[in-house]
Amino acid sequence: MGPMIGLLALIRAEPTLLPPAPEAALVGGAHMDHRRLDEVQTCLGCGQRAECAFVAETKLGPRWLDLCHACTYRLQEEDSQL
Ligand SMILES: [Zn+2]
Repeated sequence: MGPMIGLLALIRAEPTLLPPAPEAALVGGAHMDHRRLDEVQTCLGCGQRAECAFVAETKLGPRWLDLCHACTYRLQEEDSQL
């Protein structure tokens, strides 16, 4: 298991680590663009400025997952190896 996949597993177990996202963010891109472009968020993986915003569905509802480009790439790489 790679470090980014491990991070996702941790989030699933502990969704409170992430800020809550609006339900509407699950279906529309506008919320994601606003968070990604108009707000400064910290990458969950490395602490740099996040340039990508995703919504993770957790047992506590949708949560924001902020990542920089490098960590998004790493996550996709690890995900494709599963
Ligand atoms: Zn990062």
